[in-house]
Amino acid sequence: MTDNTAPAAPASPTPVTLLGTGAMGTALARAWLAAGHPLTVWNRTPARTAPLAAEGAAVAAGAGDAVAASRLVVVCLLDDASVGEALDGADLSGRDLVNLTTGTPGQGRARAAWATSRGARYLDGGILAVPPMIGDAESGAHVLYSGSRAVFEEHRATLAVPAGTRYVGEDPGFAALHDVALLSAMYGMFAGVAHAFALIRREDVAPKDFAPLLVSWLSAMSPTVHETAERLESGDYTEGVVSHLAMQVAGTTTLLRTAEEQGVSAKLLTPYLDLMARRVADGHGDEDGAGLIDLLVRAARA
Ligand code: NDP
Repeated sequence: MTDNTAPAAPASPTPVTLLGTGAMGTALARAWLAAGHPLTVWNRTPARTAPLAAEGAAVAAGAGDAVAASRLVVVCLLDDASVGEALDGADLSGRDLVNLTTGTPGQGRARAAWATSRGARYLDGGILAVPPMIGDAESGAHVLYSGSRAVFEEHRATLAVPAGTRYVGEDPGFAALHDVALLSAMYGMFAGVAHAFALIRREDVAPKDFAPLLVSWLSAMSPTVHETAERLESGDYTEGVVSHLAMQVAGTTTLLRTAEEQGVSAKLLTPYLDLMARRVADGHGDEDGAGLIDLLVRAARA
């Protein structure tokens, strides 16, 4: 994995073409303009490029014209289908196509093959930020990249203008894979947070007093991510387990009863608790949560 948060700036800023000036595209465009990069933009609905034109961007009449304007072509459209539609008639030969449109690993791989067959070099990207974080070096915004290492290396300084960059591998599906895995973990956390707030919702507990406790507890639990990784790597799910599954499953009755007492649906909680119970029933009560991952993968394959 290549980390690249502070690459050397090029002698003269590289020209950039950007397709898509929605909320994210506009934020990217502003960051490149602010850093002095000559920028050509195109958007399906031309009116959305007007503010950027006022700030110094050249506006192309069509996607093909925009692609012709710069070797480095960044795409940030709604979804993979819109990328195919927008670039349908464009001549991609000799272009370095960087696709920051959110997609699946399979879409990333197919789009790479599609771009390569049209003479372009392809780099896929998954943005881990919301638009206000773009261009703010302190915000923690970053983009995961995969695909052509040569494109990443050649353009790393330009790509680092809007957000930190991290290269995760030659497989063009890996950026999306990592992106979606991280987003999925985030939604799991959001689900737990929603359940926790629901439990206190009708009580005389101020959410703003509860929030710091919640943040502190989630932070204290976050090292379990590394422990899980170590167990998955070693294949030993029982060595050094402190809170084994059998004990945890016994305790889940309290969690479910509390939800009932508080008049809260346990629908966000029960899928995980059910998996834990299944793993114990399968004879793995001496493990912690690592074995649930294999259960999930097997469940998907079954
Ligand atoms: P917006 O909805 O603001 O913009 C969508 C863009 O896609 C517009 O430029 C729109 O053009 C264009 N578009 C949609 N369909 C087509 C089509 N068929 N042909 C050509 N252009 C099309 O979305 P964002 O800018 O916020 O998001 C862009 C990408 O960035 C998405 O893949 C999103 O998942 C990703 N992203 C966004 C984040 C966010 O917080 N906003 C966070 C992380 C990733 P038009 O103006 O004509 O409708």
